[in-house]
Amino acid sequence: MRDNADVVVVGAGIMGLSIAYHLAASGVRHVTVVDKSYLCGGASGRNGGGVRAQWSSEANVRLMQESIRMCREFASRMKINVWFRQGGYLFLARTPAIRAQLEKSVALQNDCGLPTRMLSPAEARRIVPELDISGVDAASYNPDDGVVFPWPFVWGYAQAAQKLGVDVVPWHDVVGFETEGARMTGVRVRRSGPPGEQGDGPAAVIKTRQVVNAAGAWAPQVARMVGVALPNRPHRHEICSTEPLKPWLKPLVADLSDGLYFSQSTRGEIVGGIGNEYVAPGLDQGSSHAFLGKYARSLVRACPVLGSVKVLRQWAGCYDLTPDANPIVGPVDEIEGFFQAHGFMGHGFMMAPVIGKLIAQVVAGGPEVPQFERWNLRRFKEGKLLSEAMIIG
Ligand SMILES: Cc1cc2nc3c(=O)[nH]c(=O)nc-3n(C[C@H](O)[C@H](O)[C@H](O)COP(=O)(O)OP(=O)(O)OC[C@H]3O[C@@H](n4cnc5c(N)ncnc54)[C@H](O)[C@@H]3O)c2cc1C
Repeated sequence: MRDNADVVVVGAGIMGLSIAYHLAASGVRHVTVVDKSYLCGGASGRNGGGVRAQWSSEANVRLMQESIRMCREFASRMKINVWFRQGGYLFLARTPAIRAQLEKSVALQNDCGLPTRMLSPAEARRIVPELDISGVDAASYNPDDGVVFPWPFVWGYAQAAQKLGVDVVPWHDVVGFETEGARMTGVRVRRSGPPGEQGDGPAAVIKTRQVVNAAGAWAPQVARMVGVALPNRPHRHEICSTEPLKPWLKPLVADLSDGLYFSQSTRGEIVGGIGNEYVAPGLDQGSSHAFLGKYARSLVRACPVLGSVKVLRQWAGCYDLTPDANPIVGPVDEIEGFFQAHGFMGHGFMMAPVIGKLIAQVVAGGPEVPQFERWNLRRFKEGKLLSEAMIIG
């Protein structure tokens, strides 16, 4: 590990690695990414791999148009198969209110150039013939949305960043920061070690004037070390995958009434989850039996044929929730040189390609990104909250 860097990124999830890769690609020479765990130990190794441009705010639609383009090129650019499959996203509405929300979002998406369209229940069943449409009021469908396999996406960024000279340092915990007045001057790091191997020794210091907090659901802990309070809340989300089936399910199906989503991976498994508002906030990545019951009931209501399919594996990760369902991105007023890149709820994976590129541009001193001003932390103090209705789970 180098003892000084132009930029230190805290967190080697998809966001931190994308930022580091784009910084190095834009010519920043000494970039270090520190993670207290292994690559894929956080939400980036535990998610559903869904990638979509169906959003209710113009910023998210336009950013995701670019991110999907980058996902399409990722395998050939990074020389790694990420199993990207564009089978579309099919959103189901079961109430007039959700139907109205879908209609509004589809109109906006069409204005942005997306081919999304509203479907009647019968039309939705033409896309997924196994769907039980009783109780379904309407659906929206964008054929260009898709899914990736998250792990190689993370590894692809890590390997490409390392090839460009980025120091990727797993099993090292950021335990504090050094400042001079209100300016960032260094990051204190202590070896954490894999399970069974205790971290030891005094903290080392990486001298730097620029730090990016990309610690996902742990971002508030990291920011607190330098006196910055974040409003984010970690929230456990569970997910599971079944035995592999021959390909039959084209889109990812999402039900906005209860947060159910499921898709078929290129390996044949049905991968899906469901939101649970009764889970207490906290940094918990454990699994529960209650989840399987809730998910199974909702899944079988949507697609009864799946009732006899066996679940092989379940796991969980943390959503990184913010009060207005929008991320926190950009510099903070309290400490010069301390950038934020977190609060991406349940959609940070799909956003990482484009957001990583734009954050790298700003950190490297390039042109400002107007959207980042709207996503700045200070909006909570100023009462300028944003909104986003197309949140799953
Ligand atoms: C069940 C589930 C399903 C999801 N489905 C989707 C989906 O379909 N599509 C989508 O786009 N998104 C999805 N998401 C959300 C997505 O996974 C996240 O938004 C995204 O992975 C966040 O990436 P990140 O790099 O910000 O955070 P993470 O991947 O969590 O990385 C943060 C890293 O910071 C490290 N860290 C924390 N504290 C410290 C410290 N003090 N020192 C050093 N390192 C530290 C952690 O070890 C971790 O590796 C889902 C999430 C979950 C949990």
